[in-house]
Amino acid sequence: MDHRQQRLLADARRLVRGLHELAGEEAPAGILPAILGELGLADRYFPLDSPIGPLLVAYNEHGVAAVGRGEDTAAFTEGYARRFGRPLRPTPAPPAALGHAIARRLAGERAEIRFDLRGLSEFERATLLKAIEIPRGEVRPYAWLAREIGRPGAVRAVGSALGRNPVPLLIPCHRIVRSDGLIGDYVFGNAAKRAALAAEGLVPDEIETRARAGVRFHASDTTRIYCFPTCRNARRITAPHLITFASDRAAQAAGYRPCKVCRPAIAS
Ligand SMILES: [Zn+2]
Repeated sequence: MDHRQQRLLADARRLVRGLHELAGEEAPAGILPAILGELGLADRYFPLDSPIGPLLVAYNEHGVAAVGRGEDTAAFTEGYARRFGRPLRPTPAPPAALGHAIARRLAGERAEIRFDLRGLSEFERATLLKAIEIPRGEVRPYAWLAREIGRPGAVRAVGSALGRNPVPLLIPCHRIVRSDGLIGDYVFGNAAKRAALAAEGLVPDEIETRARAGVRFHASDTTRIYCFPTCRNARRITAPHLITFASDRAAQAAGYRPCKVCRPAIAS
């Protein structure tokens, strides 16, 4: 923090003390973060260990705003200032509630994390919020995501939106794969994407072998329902009952219905 910021911070704290005295017990708890936000002093970052190595995580009063890979704090804060126009200050650890939520999310448990997605377009936000719905240990194609948000023609735009995900890993854009089934690109590169998927129990090589063999869907000849191969329902199909399909048209022509959980196609 430079001298100007230190002075601003000291002024802000004095102001908050004064307001507390004026308002007595009624002073709103969020007043310091609000003032710090006004002064551009609210955004902080902390280091985090993850399945794809060390990360830097930035947050403010609106939520988690950015995730960077590596330990180069200068590059991270410069990139943040360039993209969001706000300075970042280091903090050794996040507030306890946020720290717990992130730890739980990375361990595959359900945990609510607030995100600061203010800098994104409505389309980019819709894309990222849909990606959050994909369960850990499962993948879906770009085309699926485009269709789910009501923009079936916007497959390429979905790819771009995921490529601009400011909070990778926490918003799991690594769970979206190419529509031909290959793992594809990632904000942090293909190798990191494979590592993130492997950490969730998936075998990226297996996913790609299946894709290269032309297998897009797994189905059960007892339920006559077809799924994306990583869907939890598909993974329960035992080998003697496993049927594979190269397209949803082929599955439907054979009289199979799409799974209601992974929604591999619009029910017809
Ligand atoms: Zn399914």
